[in-house]
Amino acid sequence: MIEFADSHTHLAADAFSADVDSVIERARAAGARALVCIGESPAQALKAQALAARYPGLIWFTCGVHPHDAHTWNDVSDSAAIRAAMTQGAVAVGECGLDYHYDHSPRDQQRHALTQQLAIAAEFKKNIVLHTREAEADTHAFLRDAETAGVGGVLHCFTGSHALAEAGLAAGWYVSFSGVVTFKKFDDGALLRLVPDDRLLVESDAPYLAPVPNRGKRNEPAWVAATLQRIADAREVAVATLAQVTLANTHRFFSLDVPTEGAIVTIPQ
Ligand SMILES: [Zn+2]
Repeated sequence: MIEFADSHTHLAADAFSADVDSVIERARAAGARALVCIGESPAQALKAQALAARYPGLIWFTCGVHPHDAHTWNDVSDSAAIRAAMTQGAVAVGECGLDYHYDHSPRDQQRHALTQQLAIAAEFKKNIVLHTREAEADTHAFLRDAETAGVGGVLHCFTGSHALAEAGLAAGWYVSFSGVVTFKKFDDGALLRLVPDDRLLVESDAPYLAPVPNRGKRNEPAWVAATLQRIADAREVAVATLAQVTLANTHRFFSLDVPTEGAIVTIPQ
């Protein structure tokens, strides 16, 4: 059996509220050894934090404000909520970013919310989980700002241009692929080979974007194996090797704390 990480999953989403523990159990049974539960709003992050507390050593959480919700961004309350999460074990800022495909928030507000979150990431020395879609020029500019601020990150669920991936890699960032790379219309095997071994992450982005052969269904972390297989085929490596490499990268990227094997837990009397 392969052992793998899911570097980006929305287990706190309503889609999982009825059966999240079964979803997590299936992931574990399939070989998941690290699940990074994304808090794409302060409210979702609290749920993600609770899941992380229930599954120490398996689930970690992040906190940020998604570009779709940037129009709700409040400099005082959102900054305070994200900063609080960073002091309580959140492993990254995000997901945040720029989405000029849907434009659910005005672009200037998306840029403002992202700049504010970059400042928090710099303050807490955390990486950023970045969502970017059809916002290439502004993402290039943001990568330069992040590099100046000394902040790393991951281009999550990446399907953009080679030039943008290369700019991210040059800035020290990671690139993460989702089930989209298993879709029939995805034919950019060169993109899957472009990312060096030590900068590659893989994710479900569940409940969205289920990989083939489960496309269209509610996605879950157990199915990351299908995405790993597609990437492994493109890179001509064994899937078990790729799974181990991306698991190690996930640990390194998020600085995941691993409970010491056989650690003695002392219960205060
Ligand atoms: Zn996501």
